[in-house]
Amino acid sequence: MRVRYSYLQQQFADIDDLWDKLRRFVKTGDFTIGKPLAEFEKRFAELIGTKHAIGVGSGTDSLKLSLKAAGVGHGDEVITAANTFIATAGAINEIGARPVFVDCDDTFCMDVDRLEDTITENTKAIMPVHFTGYLTDMPRLMAIAGKHGLPVIEDACQAILGAIDGKNGGTWGLAGGFSLHPLKNLNVWGDGGVIVTNDESMDGKLRLLRNHGLSSRDEIVVMGYNARLDTLQAVVGTWLIGQTGKITEKRIANAAYYDDRLSPISGIRIPPRPANMRCVYHLYVVFAEDRDGLYGYCRSKGIECKIHYPIPLYRQQGLRFLGYKPGDFPVTDRHAASIISFPTDQHLSRDEQDYVIETVRAFYAGG
Ligand SMILES: *Cc1c(COP(=O)(O)O)cnc(C)c1O
Repeated sequence: MRVRYSYLQQQFADIDDLWDKLRRFVKTGDFTIGKPLAEFEKRFAELIGTKHAIGVGSGTDSLKLSLKAAGVGHGDEVITAANTFIATAGAINEIGARPVFVDCDDTFCMDVDRLEDTITENTKAIMPVHFTGYLTDMPRLMAIAGKHGLPVIEDACQAILGAIDGKNGGTWGLAGGFSLHPLKNLNVWGDGGVIVTNDESMDGKLRLLRNHGLSSRDEIVVMGYNARLDTLQAVVGTWLIGQTGKITEKRIANAAYYDDRLSPISGIRIPPRPANMRCVYHLYVVFAEDRDGLYGYCRSKGIECKIHYPIPLYRQQGLRFLGYKPGDFPVTDRHAASIISFPTDQHLSRDEQDYVIETVRAFYAGG
């Protein structure tokens, strides 16, 4: 059996109604900003439960523009989690600020116990990353941020509809950034991103920043960016957004199915599953003994498992200028050596899951 990681061919196989919508859209010529974007933004704000949603060019843009709108700039420090996708650190770097890492805990998010030690007089914002679909411990993080008067911009790119005590990721801080990249839980046909906020002034600034700082055709109020969400992608997003709840439920159900059947296997350890947290499993990650052996074995049996990520950011050549040295983030290092991700998406079948589980069991039983 082959168990693929990407489901994109399945997801968009039967979409005649979307083609009809796109045909009608193309005839309007409303390709930048325009009505379909406003409609998508309204639906997205309703989905997350914020006053405002602002469509931007990518998840990276959502973070970059939010930091900029919060007043972060050249020479400032932004505290973020050590294990994340490069885009988090990239967004901070793009506005001239410096990413400062905090080690993770076994939920793959920032270990909030270690946050306060990294705050300096140069710290201008905190960017928790809700990695893999877990939420960072936001009640405690917000208390620390509040005590130090620091704005919080949430990287919620992997955590759409993830929540703590029913409060969604992206709604805790001043703003939250989401990605609509094809591999994310709510996905369009290329790059796209959305910022959510309840703050009136942030909303105004972000709408300017994403569109060259233009307040009208002829007036530039601030220096901005070309960072609009393509209106065509907004049409795709509006078509899909109603399915986000179901997609999320399916991922959660698939993860629970794995948890039940993988947890008795002696070589596997399931990460903590806090009862008050809704983890949305953008990635399904477990800890594995002899991870490299298991990875190779699963691959040889046709299972496209992955590692998110094998080389922590702070050890990457491109980030050497930050001055970190091997061993600075021991938990992230331990994760890099022991984590493995299995497909958990809404298109995965029970047969495929059973095959993954049987293969893992066979590996630890001696192949
Ligand atoms: C995907 C992702 C981003 C960036 O999203 P893009 O849309 O690819 O720019 C940022 N942070 C995290 C954690 C992500 O997974």
